[in-house]
Amino acid sequence: MAARSRKVVRKQDSIYALATPEGVSAISVIRVTGLSISKKFFNFLGIERKKPGVFLRKISLGDFSEKCLILYFKAPRSYTGEDVIEIQSHGNMVIVSEIFDVLENFGFREAQAGEFTKRGFLNNKFTIDEAESVAANVSAGSVEELRMLEDFRLGKVGHFFSNVTKKIEGLLVTIESQLDFSDEGAVGSISKNNIKKEIAVLKRDLDNFLRKYSPFQSEMMKKRVVLVGQPNVGKSSLFNSLVGGRVALVSNAPGTTRDVVRKNLFLKGVEITLEDTAGIRTGQVSEIEKMGMGLTNESYETSDLCLEVFEPKQKIKKKFKDSVLIINKSDLLKVHTKKNALYVSAKTGAGIEELRKLIYKYIKPDPKLSLVTERVYKAVVKANNSIETVRGDDIFEITAQQLRDALLELRYVYGNFSNEKILDRVFSKFCIGK
Ligand code: GDP
Repeated sequence: MAARSRKVVRKQDSIYALATPEGVSAISVIRVTGLSISKKFFNFLGIERKKPGVFLRKISLGDFSEKCLILYFKAPRSYTGEDVIEIQSHGNMVIVSEIFDVLENFGFREAQAGEFTKRGFLNNKFTIDEAESVAANVSAGSVEELRMLEDFRLGKVGHFFSNVTKKIEGLLVTIESQLDFSDEGAVGSISKNNIKKEIAVLKRDLDNFLRKYSPFQSEMMKKRVVLVGQPNVGKSSLFNSLVGGRVALVSNAPGTTRDVVRKNLFLKGVEITLEDTAGIRTGQVSEIEKMGMGLTNESYETSDLCLEVFEPKQKIKKKFKDSVLIINKSDLLKVHTKKNALYVSAKTGAGIEELRKLIYKYIKPDPKLSLVTERVYKAVVKANNSIETVRGDDIFEITAQQLRDALLELRYVYGNFSNEKILDRVFSKFCIGK
């Protein structure tokens, strides 16, 4: 890990936030952090500033009182490195809002997104990649995503940055000393050929990183699977079978589905959005049905997998390129003749499990794919773009400048965060309360 210098921030104001989702739940957790949480507040809670621990306390909220579990983590042994108090109340937003009023009256302010983690970072509780992996972990939508973020979470990415930064710094020192002392015989002498070799190794390391990792965007991980076909082939029925409930309307009247009906579901830890679309047919159709068909085409164009559904009495001829052939209503058939199709029955459930497996086969993430945050990924791209093999007499000067530029990009990720704006950009991606 590159050397970091972080100012330990003292005398910050005290902040609070709801750490659990809004709404009705078994409990709500409200977090408070600050280095100068007033003694009056400790008195109000009935706990002592010197004594961290877990306490059951009845706290007065004006017209009523609420029995709360209070967790007190004394600075610096807390998530933020400051005094942290967690108040666990019943999961009722009326109670939560009353507690917020009390906190405001004590002069605390509501935290901004990621402010708790930012304080933890500034107080050296963790490195920036650990902090970012907290955010990535919270927003990861599936087991697969968590697996892909493993290198990031385990600090392997930080390790890569540390190594590559050291390499660049070493090379830069050698080149700069050569430039400074070129008349007197270089201190750490390096030939033009060796520079080219060292640069090639560096580029290879950066290229390998960019090949191994992809930028993490939680939206990118969701796959879209669309059901298309003529009216009445059983798209809505299949949709309902797959999502396990009656979401789309089923009817033997053609043209029932007009808007695209969507539902998210998980297949072995991968989140997919399944879409039921308006049936495609020619002949006399209403204006609204035509609009529905337009949406079907849009859905198809942007999908990751298209399931084209037929029924046995139809002539089977695919209309959608790269679609997978599904023949529904297999209960009406004695033999299954088409080799390249999956036979299913939304009515009896036959073949539905196979259909799930087929979908997963198409959308499952590459097992070799690993993720890093977009910020980290972009920094490596920029560093990589800064460096290229140089020829000619200026090779020392130009390479030195390129290496300085690359270092700047890499340090931007792990280096000295004297620029508050960069920090705010990192932490604004967090949720409030984290
Ligand atoms: P969509 O227009 O393609 O969405 O088709 P629907 O799901 O609305 O179904 C059209 C008709 O086919 C309805 O009457 C369904 O009950 C019927 N249907 C759907 N799936 C099956 C199936 O697997 N077997 C049989 N026998 N009928 C089905």
